[in-house]
Amino acid sequence: MGYEINEKTFKKYPSSWKEKIKEESYSDKFILISKKPELWVYLGEHGDHLLVTKTGAAIYCSCKGFRINLERKDALGCTHVYSLKISASLGRYRDISYRINKDDLHRIIEEILEVDYSYTLRLKLLEK
Ligand SMILES: [Zn+2]
Repeated sequence: MGYEINEKTFKKYPSSWKEKIKEESYSDKFILISKKPELWVYLGEHGDHLLVTKTGAAIYCSCKGFRINLERKDALGCTHVYSLKISASLGRYRDISYRINKDDLHRIIEEILEVDYSYTLRLKLLEK
């Protein structure tokens, strides 16, 4: 498969995505839930999205837009892919990975992939 998101595809998103990416990048809605493997959650308006990154670059997002572009064999990904990169470089995200054990991680992933919402993640975010 020729599907790849990397530095080269990074600058090619449609200009119509620009505002959305800017908004998401500065939203503080990205949560790092695991460092190995690199897993993130974006707390979106339409639910939680799970993102997988590899050395900082997103290679998967569980949102609908990503799936649609994937089905079109369009290597654009989604706005979250680009926003995450900016957020991460600016340090505008919450790292709760140290508080997430294997069972929590399993639950969070399952909840997001099943119902686009993780109750377990909400509990973890409230923990001090
Ligand atoms: Zn997405």
